[in-house]
Amino acid sequence: MTEKLAIDGGAPIRQHVLPYGRQVIDDEDVRAVVDVLKGDWLTTGPLVAQFEEAVASYCGVKHAVAFNSCTAALHAACFAAGVETSTETIVPAMTFVATANAVLFCRGHVVFADVKTDSLLLDIDSLRARLSPRTRAVIAVDYAGQPADISELRALCDERGLKLIVDAAHSLGAKYRGGSVGQHAHFTAFSFHPVKSITTGEGGMAVTNDDRDAQRMRAFRSHGINSDPRARAERGEWLYEMAHLGYNYRIPDMLCALGVSQLRKLDSFIARRSAIASLYRKAFAAVPEIELLAELDDRTSSHHLFPIRINLDRLSAGRTQIFRALRAEGIGVNVHYIPVYWHPHYQRLSYEKGLCPIAEREYERLITLPLWAGMTDTDAKDVVDAVDKVIGAYRKS
Ligand SMILES: *Cc1c(COP(=O)(O)O)cnc(C)c1O
Repeated sequence: MTEKLAIDGGAPIRQHVLPYGRQVIDDEDVRAVVDVLKGDWLTTGPLVAQFEEAVASYCGVKHAVAFNSCTAALHAACFAAGVETSTETIVPAMTFVATANAVLFCRGHVVFADVKTDSLLLDIDSLRARLSPRTRAVIAVDYAGQPADISELRALCDERGLKLIVDAAHSLGAKYRGGSVGQHAHFTAFSFHPVKSITTGEGGMAVTNDDRDAQRMRAFRSHGINSDPRARAERGEWLYEMAHLGYNYRIPDMLCALGVSQLRKLDSFIARRSAIASLYRKAFAAVPEIELLAELDDRTSSHHLFPIRINLDRLSAGRTQIFRALRAEGIGVNVHYIPVYWHPHYQRLSYEKGLCPIAEREYERLITLPLWAGMTDTDAKDVVDAVDKVIGAYRKS
């Protein structure tokens, strides 16, 4: 009954690999970029403020500061939050390395907290156990696009005088208790990498409701210089001051034009992602070898990723073999994430394995299935067929 797997020489489900994520660009996007190229300002121009205003208004926050990546936005947020030498910042182990790296850029100490088994979101009990008099900030991650427990985290941070930063690289457009992601934390950072909700190629944005924090991040983006180069040029002035050490984290106007154009499509992108996620959920609900992430009912996901967990004790193959078999079928699976402190750089900083047992255990059985707004129903059905085929072939009888 079982078909021969492509990895064993059988016919693959797809000839060309379906990526796990990719951008969706239309003619309107292309025109927006080209128009800027023909204008006066390729960087520090009017499109930057336009993109910032569009994101601030979408999220319902006072300030948005655009960066050339989410990593830069996280770095700026850590700087504005006061992360520095001899401070500690708590970060979940289950995230992309950039979340923790932003703390290291500020010479802060990273303290890893564990995640909850059902959602893989930061576990507040684990976080509480890691608080110390040196804790300065907490970075929560909206894993796979589902918002973290922002109200509880914010209450805890406010009670202790800590800054709450949300790494919302996955969750632009997600909602939490009726509000948009970005409204609840002191700082929220978004990514516009091609696999994320909307893209500018590379790009990021930090949002905040605090005037002073917004100003600090704005200066940080441009060498720590307090005045705006376009305003200076227009006034014919040359004087500027560098108040703090900053970076060149500016995003060009072409990319902001793409961002403005993409943002108009964000809700339709999320609706499409949500439809594919529902299709997957229905297809896998009754497959005992597959566990899905819990969907919490006080929030809606932006459906950035569709990670599944494999019940390996029901199968005769390990995660790596299943991963390779799916790839051979033409399904561009991925894994999100290797626990951050398993990476060699963090190992050299003396983090020991075993620190966050749930993140470590779940990592071993995670596989991310393709999910992006440009996928057709046929693409989604290919993914379901390939998963059924591979699981079926390795099922213990
Ligand atoms: C993509 C991502 C980032 C980094 O975003 P860039 O825009 O590529 O710098 C940070 N954190 C998480 C969780 C991400 O997925």
